[in-house]
Amino acid sequence: MLFRGDTPPPAGSQVTSVDARQLTFRFADSDDEGGASPCPISRWAARGKTPGRVVRLPAGGRPLEEIRLEQAVAAYLPPGKGVRLTLTGNRYNIVAVRREPAVYVVRIHRIFAGAEPRLVRALARYVVHNDRRASGTLGEFIERHEHIISRAPRRPRLVKLRPTGRVHDLQDIFDRLNRRYFEGTLQAKITWGPALFRAQQRSIKMGSFSVEDRIIRVHPALDRAEVPLFFVEWIVFHEMLHGRHEIRRSGSRRCFHPPEFLAQEREFADYQRASAWEKENVDRLFGR
Ligand SMILES: [Zn+2]
Repeated sequence: MLFRGDTPPPAGSQVTSVDARQLTFRFADSDDEGGASPCPISRWAARGKTPGRVVRLPAGGRPLEEIRLEQAVAAYLPPGKGVRLTLTGNRYNIVAVRREPAVYVVRIHRIFAGAEPRLVRALARYVVHNDRRASGTLGEFIERHEHIISRAPRRPRLVKLRPTGRVHDLQDIFDRLNRRYFEGTLQAKITWGPALFRAQQRSIKMGSFSVEDRIIRVHPALDRAEVPLFFVEWIVFHEMLHGRHEIRRSGSRRCFHPPEFLAQEREFADYQRASAWEKENVDRLFGR
């Protein structure tokens, strides 16, 4: 099966909207940012905050305008800080910032290529300080260019779905769970995810749900005879719930597992057994 998809969001990011039209900025959100989140944190949330899987590609030949913008922003950074900037065509997440100890990782829409100095300054202030006024300036710029953002064709990416594993058939599992828990109404695709080298993974996610293209991906390490069916079902069930529950915002934080989500997760018939199995086996499974 082949169909169109788009890039899943990077992990560790948060979203806040700047206006009623929901142009979104993505924020990095370190765990020590202050105060407890009002969003309940489940074991899942602790494992990784976004449902998307993390894939980082090696930097190839970079476009000149990207390097230029990166250097322009770098000029405004505090000493000891660097910036790694990527121009994107992502029409949903126009500006994404992840704040790492020594570097700001910025993903930003191509409309910012060749930005005038005033805008670059605002961008730098936003990147470094998450500055409200700077955010307003960027928001106005984005709004003025929205016609360009929405006109740009979605980058078509062929996603090959591979639901049939060596041991477990994800489509079977999905269809069964869909009938049992969702009256057969849940629409999503499902596939085994790619096998990643451990070094590529910031955190191990046993499953993910891509909101944009509604694809559930399950970690291929679970496609083994020693992994019981009820456990794979549980992983799939969790991701299916993401297809049912919207991501809720509270301030600039996103809550992936609101209380209704967690309550429904407990309706899974093998919930106890699956949790116990995970506790016992997951480290061994992922070679930790
Ligand atoms: Zn989740």
